[in-house]
Amino acid sequence: MKTLIIEDDPEIIETIFLIMKIRWPDCVMVSESTGKRGLELAEIEDPDLVIIDLGLPDMSGFDVLRQIRTFSKTPIIIVTVRGEEADIVKGLELGADDYMVKPFGQMELLARAQAVIRRSLPGIDENPITLGGMRFSPSFGKISFNGRDIALTNIEGLILYQLMNNPGVVLNYTTLAEKIWGDYYPGAVNSLRVYIRHLRSKLEVDPYHPRFILTKVGVGYFINKLN
Ligand code: CA
Repeated sequence: MKTLIIEDDPEIIETIFLIMKIRWPDCVMVSESTGKRGLELAEIEDPDLVIIDLGLPDMSGFDVLRQIRTFSKTPIIIVTVRGEEADIVKGLELGADDYMVKPFGQMELLARAQAVIRRSLPGIDENPITLGGMRFSPSFGKISFNGRDIALTNIEGLILYQLMNNPGVVLNYTTLAEKIWGDYYPGAVNSLRVYIRHLRSKLEVDPYHPRFILTKVGVGYFINKLN
């Protein structure tokens, strides 16, 4: 297990190091403060997890992310102080698997790191799930819909997997968070909201009037089984 952190704030690096070592004592930690050097390390070190700060001194974390995705499928988590939904969605579109808004708690970091690593491991051989016109292949992280293949990020895939396995059943926030991140933590509801919006933008004809992924206000989400 090797983690690369591309971040210019030494305190954040230290915090992440300490937390990761609790869960993975043998974890090798590598860090870089610039995007340019971070990119080189991402290639040379072949890490199992990459954590990227959006605000780097020499280049945007978005560009680092975009470039890593040209040669690597390794799980990537973005850390940002801004936490604006537009930034988060942009990061996910560029191929990040998850994001964390600073300051984040220990539980949150561990939950998110575990989820993306678990999902990226080879050998997850779940059978495709078919519902309506959709065919979801969890092991490939993609969904086929009307003959079109749509790529999903790790977390999007985990959420859709839970919902499609329980069509018509409302899964509440706590249940979903526990299934996806292994734990419920403050902020999970907001995260779920962002991922659901993103899934809708990929799967719904009109994301603002969803017919497939529905909200039970104040409770959770469910998949419309009639679709
Ligand atoms: Ca920074």
